[in-house]
This record gives sequence, structure tokens and C-alpha cells, in this order.
Amino acid sequence: MITVARARGTYTYPSRCTLICAMNPCPCGNYGSSTKACRCSPAQIQRYLSRISGPLLDRIDIHLELEAVPYDQLTSRREAEPSAAIRARVNQARQIQAARYHDMETFCNAQISGRLLQEICALDRECAAKAQQYYTQLGLTARAYNRILRVARTIADLEGSEAIRLPHLTEAFSYRLADGKYWGG
Ligand SMILES: [Zn+2]
Repeated sequence: MITVARARGTYTYPSRCTLICAMNPCPCGNYGSSTKACRCSPAQIQRYLSRISGPLLDRIDIHLELEAVPYDQLTSRREAEPSAAIRARVNQARQIQAARYHDMETFCNAQISGRLLQEICALDRECAAKAQQYYTQLGLTARAYNRILRVARTIADLEGSEAIRLPHLTEAFSYRLADGKYWGG
């Protein structure tokens, strides 16, 4: 919620939102690049990254590292997937969730927790073994793990898959690799 206090009164508004943010990996912006050299010292990089606290980072579901776009790709005429097709896929995943949660207060995967999470994001034996391995290797928190399960459920929904399968789970875990790479897990 966001509370705005003014002379005439105090108002509180609901603020469920999708938070999207971007940052450089270091002051010069080249740390981790495969084509450009980073000019920063390890201490500078550390200081820069430490401006984002672990607990804040932990609450962001998807971390993506993006490389600079090479020139030939910039000028390529190859068509990307049209937005209309992506929109149709997202709507379909939303409908699956609307049906799944039709008799509950919840309306999407992002909101589920506790026993419902265990139930709806149930993993088969193969996935559970992989999840345990990744969880330990990446040194994740329980909060991060629950978020990964929800993301895996959404990836499965986008594919129209009833169960969470290994590729869905692996993709969801891949969105948390930056935790370990930059923040030391
Ligand atoms: Zn740098």
C-alpha cells in the first residue's frame, strides 16, 4: 500500500504492481561483458553492487543479464515474434489461472503461498531432486525458492502444461543465477 499524507488528510491506496528495474553491473557498465573490458576495481564493483541489498534482490523473481546488441543483429531484418502472438499466449496462461483459482481469493500464481503453493506447484521426483540440487548449489533462501516455484508454474502455464516439467523448473532457476554470480549467493 502507498500512504499519502497531506494537510487535508491521509489517504492509503492499494499498490499491487509489477516492478521492473534495470541496473549496470558496475560503474563502467562492462563487468561480465564478453566483448568489452571492465575498467573497475573489484572493490568498486563490490561497492556498486552492494547498493542493492540482498533482501530486496531476493524479492525480485526474474533476474536477467543482457549483453550489448551486436551490430549485425541491430540491422537484421529477421522478424521477431509479433506482440499479438505473445499477447495471445499470456491471455491463455491468465485464463488457465483464472480457472484454477476460480473459487479462491487468489487470481494468479504470484499470490499463492503455504499449502496451496505445495499443492499447485507439486514437483515429480525428477524435478524435486533437481530443485534440491539447485537450491543447495545456489545458496538460495526459502523465499527465493517459493518464488522460483511460482515462476516455474507460470512457465508451465504459458506452455499449456498441466504439470511443472524439468525444463520449466530449470528455466525458473536460471533467472536466479545472477544472485550467486554478482552477490555471492
Ligand atoms: Zn566496470
